[in-house]
Amino acid sequence: MSEGYDAIIVGSGPNGLAAAVTLARSGLSVAVYERADTLGGAASTAELTLPGFRHDVGSAVHPLAFESWFFREFALERRVPFVRPEVSYAHPLDGGRAGLAFRDLARAAEGLGVDGPAYERLMRPLVDHLRGVADFTGNALLRVPGDPLAAFFFGIRSLEQGGPWWNQRFRDEVVPALITGVSAHTILHQPSIAAGGAGLVLATYGHGRGWPIPVGGSQAIADAMISDVRAHGGVFHTGTEVTSLDELPPARAVLLDVTPRALVRLAGCRMPSGYRRKLERFRYGGGVAKVDFALSEPVPWTNADVARAGTVHIGGTRAEVAAAENAVARGELPDAPYVLAAQPTLFDPTRAPAGKHVLWAYTHVPPGSPADREEAVVRQVERFAPGFRDTILASTSRTAVDIAAWNPNFPGGDISAGAPSLPQLLGRPVYSPDPWRTPMDGVYLCSSSTSPGPGVHGLAGWQAALSALRHEFGTRLRPDLAPREESLRDIDPGAASRRDATP
Ligand SMILES: Cc1cc2nc3c(=O)[nH]c(=O)nc-3n(C[C@H](O)[C@H](O)[C@H](O)COP(=O)(O)OP(=O)(O)OC[C@H]3O[C@@H](n4cnc5c(N)ncnc54)[C@H](O)[C@@H]3O)c2cc1C
Repeated sequence: MSEGYDAIIVGSGPNGLAAAVTLARSGLSVAVYERADTLGGAASTAELTLPGFRHDVGSAVHPLAFESWFFREFALERRVPFVRPEVSYAHPLDGGRAGLAFRDLARAAEGLGVDGPAYERLMRPLVDHLRGVADFTGNALLRVPGDPLAAFFFGIRSLEQGGPWWNQRFRDEVVPALITGVSAHTILHQPSIAAGGAGLVLATYGHGRGWPIPVGGSQAIADAMISDVRAHGGVFHTGTEVTSLDELPPARAVLLDVTPRALVRLAGCRMPSGYRRKLERFRYGGGVAKVDFALSEPVPWTNADVARAGTVHIGGTRAEVAAAENAVARGELPDAPYVLAAQPTLFDPTRAPAGKHVLWAYTHVPPGSPADREEAVVRQVERFAPGFRDTILASTSRTAVDIAAWNPNFPGGDISAGAPSLPQLLGRPVYSPDPWRTPMDGVYLCSSSTSPGPGVHGLAGWQAALSALRHEFGTRLRPDLAPREESLRDIDPGAASRRDATP
């Protein structure tokens, strides 16, 4: 590592790549160092079971792919073909009932029975202020919101769905289960304000733009950014784990797609002790155990409409999901866990041999749990899809320990790279309007341990790069990230004209 660069990025996850795109597009020389042999971090796709079955190793469904401010500027929608299931997510219940989150909120409400109108009243102001909600929650929260009304509606509703009064609007079980299924993405105690807020944001995307799935798998998102970096002169060094900042070649800016804990190690005595103490206070959350299945046929859901959804939240009623999540929060393994599943081959047949399917599933476990949860996941799917077991051709199960070993950004299997609790959403990783900038000259943190937190959105990398451009290169100009027209795949000729204006 001897050559010098304007900017170095350590880690090639979606945030590292977003930083690399932004800096390379600013005309800077950029190098990315990645410890793995492949690029993309947790946005990667591989044959994990049988030949021809392509599974998403990490992320699978991308609610933020169209509304992340970075991806809007990068025009991801025009670079990568996506499928958008008409039902963003489904929540099956015993007795063949199910809540279906149709992209169209009014249609979803119509199918939600007695609580449909109350659900529409809860969600309508957020969906109508989708762009404001996306911009408020997709940034450091300690700043004046661009759309104060969106922030107000979001705040009030997060308090409601994050408190003991979360059932007050509802009379039946379907809508509360549907909301808790999406809030439980957070791996937090239920109810809690952060879980309620995160659930509402994801639901808002679900009804506003849908939950898109990239054709071919999440690696397609990483590949689009990798090609753009290369097209603008950036270089990648794979199989290169950085163990100290002192190993890196000279650079005016170093952006680290790592956790605060890793930054403390990498910086050693270069880090001021006050900042180190703050980073040492950063808390990591619950873990996940994941199972990928190759199937001979689609999951035989009792309620056939569940097959219209890209994502399925499994675990029964609101009370049951909350009990499972609260057991994990106490450090226990629930007998009947909450399971998040994605069924991409129902919408994208390129992922498996003709007529065959993949199912992506994970469940929450206490941090660092060595438990193999395959049987518990299969039992929960069987509960709502009897006969599922007979469709399994092959499977691969990874424990939280395996996930942490695969990617050090997920300590103990914490795929959020730091608990997304309310204090750690307000100050991620520290309380600051520019939480990406560290007190060390030219050193920035850009992983999902920084604002706005977990998910494939590139926003942490983009914000860190914009901060580096301001402080190290003296420019407040945002580079143009739009694709060159000739490099676009002809995936949807109408999309360019429909593109929303950048705020
Ligand atoms: C099982 C699973 C399911 C998920 N599902 C979804 C989903 O459906 N939708 C969604 O939006 N999000 C999902 N996520 C979360 C999402 O993938 C992450 O929030 C996102 O990838 C974070 O991006 P990042 O760039 O911050 O970090 P990462 O993607 O974790 O990338 C960090 C990279 O840095 C590298 N690195 C770390 N330390 C070093 C070092 N010292 N030297 C060199 N390289 C280093 C790592 O090898 C890795 O490649 C999921 C994650 C997992 C694991």
